[in-house]
Amino acid sequence: MGRSTKTTCPYCGVGCGILATPKENGAVEIKGDETHPANFGRLCSKGFALGETLDMDGRLLEPEVDGEKSSWEVALQHVADTFSKTIQKHGPDSVAFYVSGQILTEDYYVANKLMKGFIGSGNIDTNSRLCMASSVAGHRRAFGADTVPGTYEDLELADVVVLVGSNLAWCHPVIYQRIAAAKAARPSMKIVLVDPRRTMTADIADMHLPIATDGDAALFAGLLSYLAKSELVDGDYVAKHTKGFSEALGRAQFSPLEETATLSGLSTQELQDFYALWASNQKVVTVYSQGVNQSCIGTDKVNAIINCHLATGRIGKPGMGPFSITGQPNAMGGREVGGLANMLAAHLEIENPDHRDRVKRFWNAPGVAAKPGLKAVDMFEAVSDGRIKAIWIMATNPVDSMPDADVVEAALQACPFVVVSDVLAQTDTVRHAHVKLPSLGWGEKDGTVTNSERRISHQKAFLSAPGYAKADWWQMAQVALRMGYGDAFHYNSASDIFREYAAQTAFENGGTRDLDIGAYADVSDKEYENLLPFQWPAAKAGNWDGGDKRFFANGGFYTADQKAQFVVVNPQTQRENEQSLPFVLNTGRIRDQWHTMTRTGKSSRLSSHIAEPFAEIHPQDAASKGIGDADIVAVRNARGRIAVRALLTNRVQQGHIFVPMHFTNQVSSNARVDKLIAPVTDPFSGQPALKSDRVDIETLRAKQFGFVVSGKKPALKQLPYWALAPALNGWRAEFASDEPIEELEAFACSVFGLPSGFPLLVFKDHHSGLVRAAAFDGEHLVGALYLASTPVIVSRSWAVDQLSQNFSDLASRWQVVAGRPSEDMPDKGAIICSCMNVGVNDIAHAVQNGNRTVEMVGKSTCAGTNCGSCKSEIKAIINEHQLIAAE
Ligand code: SF4
Repeated sequence: MGRSTKTTCPYCGVGCGILATPKENGAVEIKGDETHPANFGRLCSKGFALGETLDMDGRLLEPEVDGEKSSWEVALQHVADTFSKTIQKHGPDSVAFYVSGQILTEDYYVANKLMKGFIGSGNIDTNSRLCMASSVAGHRRAFGADTVPGTYEDLELADVVVLVGSNLAWCHPVIYQRIAAAKAARPSMKIVLVDPRRTMTADIADMHLPIATDGDAALFAGLLSYLAKSELVDGDYVAKHTKGFSEALGRAQFSPLEETATLSGLSTQELQDFYALWASNQKVVTVYSQGVNQSCIGTDKVNAIINCHLATGRIGKPGMGPFSITGQPNAMGGREVGGLANMLAAHLEIENPDHRDRVKRFWNAPGVAAKPGLKAVDMFEAVSDGRIKAIWIMATNPVDSMPDADVVEAALQACPFVVVSDVLAQTDTVRHAHVKLPSLGWGEKDGTVTNSERRISHQKAFLSAPGYAKADWWQMAQVALRMGYGDAFHYNSASDIFREYAAQTAFENGGTRDLDIGAYADVSDKEYENLLPFQWPAAKAGNWDGGDKRFFANGGFYTADQKAQFVVVNPQTQRENEQSLPFVLNTGRIRDQWHTMTRTGKSSRLSSHIAEPFAEIHPQDAASKGIGDADIVAVRNARGRIAVRALLTNRVQQGHIFVPMHFTNQVSSNARVDKLIAPVTDPFSGQPALKSDRVDIETLRAKQFGFVVSGKKPALKQLPYWALAPALNGWRAEFASDEPIEELEAFACSVFGLPSGFPLLVFKDHHSGLVRAAAFDGEHLVGALYLASTPVIVSRSWAVDQLSQNFSDLASRWQVVAGRPSEDMPDKGAIICSCMNVGVNDIAHAVQNGNRTVEMVGKSTCAGTNCGSCKSEIKAIINEHQLIAAE
């Protein structure tokens, strides 16, 4: 066993501390760091599975120029020359960087410095624009700075936690667990879930408000009006520390409760219950994430929430405040160092000439971009229409994650010069790169990240760099040197950059800016190596009292007069042409995958939870459209069409469908849902409304459905529908064909990667249309194929397990062909607990045997006893069985 390293999870904005220990066999043991204040030892399923994502499969290990392997020297010179020539000929705004909340603060810092300070353009933006730019804009409008006022502890101290557009159980599981534990210890604590879907987070909610799409602005405008009518406004706080209250209230009092009900999609009773709960509890935290931010009125929604907290003075005190929780591990770090096109580093403002001058002097730069650059959607439009002629994309996959994703892909195809820095050789974006630069991955790179509560943690290297992979900051700095920017980019390590960044936050600050980590400006390399998680502000003595890490309990906002600004919010929700198609498409995440699956997609354990793209459809909508459960359906609008599996559930409202955003062309035939989303943005934040659009759905009448498990990656790309996922000791795939599959034996051999004529066990029932085939090599299963004219009914988890079994006799091999679990190896059903490999049937069996709590089921089956990410699903299964028993 090697030495343990304290590091930070690279996935969501919770920013959990991790203890990583390389083992002698090359594996890495992952544990939660009990000393880290974000998670205190907890991890979710994604974090726990990190050790399974560190292999070299698919890694980009050498630079490539125009499809040929190259040295770093050649590749870097080529990038520098092409950027320099493009700028010379077309000006600095003809180039752009599109970076990512996955990169480290030090990477971000160097990229921003090069673009805004030395190239002289604002054209650097980040995929964090897609995640929380509306929160940034809302904070800046209200507070005068992008400040998250509270801390995670507030979520545990609150008497009421309101979760708006936030499926914490799946998207920020450790925060969900912290809230669930606080509620278990103090059952009087109330949780409200505001979400169009009844997500797994509803498991801990006392109240679920199935809000209409974008109805949140109306909901919170109505709350402001209710607070005023109920005389619950904190007049003292409002008078001393805010401005614009009357104007905001005047607009909020636009309509009677009935109209708020219409706009929010809620009943007047639901509104009254929620308003009474919010109003009657002093300690309220309102948490919001993508359901609020990813909207064409996202910034107004954020300000509608903040308005209510300002009106009651419930901000910056223990257990109170608005709380934006970020999707990405370092969205906050990017915000700190100017990763957004409309910000400068260290929370300085690009529109402010004094701030620009301050940055110029600090960097000794030739000039600083005089205006904001292009935000993500505008940036790719500029690539599309030729204004941007050279783009460098770092650690992100815009071909999958941007709205109108097919247009983004076409723009990159046509762009004269595309550089991509990535860990993988093949993604939907990397394949369009003229220059591919191999980056270090998690465990190999070194730097800092900032989580949603302003806590900076070290993400450390504990593995050696593979191949020729290099840090992202190094790549940027080397190009800067070759573009002639000399000493300004002579960094030897991430710690050099961190010290410069820390010094910049303190530069001419004097308490005028929220972000100040000047106390760290002189850390030695050794101190940086051992950096413990800390929350900002952390100014050198004199600028900050070093006490409470909350903001604004006593005012002190970062506006000219130090008063917070109430914002007049428009509660209307309708987008133009919104009604032209019958269904609201709601996009989001699933529990065990992260973004476009480039890392989590490598883990068979994580893929065992959900292995195929799907659309959740309300049963009545499905009936009206002639869609059966597990049919393949097309989801379409004018921008395109995707094909996914139908999952009928009343977790979605009638008229809504939900499709996850993770699936790419690398793992499925046609499931990139963001190609259906219009590139509509919020006017203040530029954040695209990725959460929703209008669509129609229809069944794709497949003639043949199939499921396969195979030791080798199945060859399915000739089929119109397929979805592929790793499985223990092999692969699993779903597929469908609009033609009956003839020549079964030849088809099976080609899918299994075997030579034609390889001996197979085959079963065909011409009457029912069932066809099965399996191939064995010695005692091992090479592949098993199940075909049917309707969706295949075979236990997926059982079939996957067969890849790890020995088959010494013919009878057991025929059992594989039959697709029937034996009595000594019963069918687990769909995997619910991916950590402990426990399926829905195991849990149901435990419930039937009298285990009626999550804890009892855990004791009986081990489900939910590791990371706990599946506890909400276990509870749902218990509830379902209790309902059945009661019927
Ligand atoms: Fe990582 Fe999960 Fe923690 Fe998020 S909640 S930081 S994904 S372990």
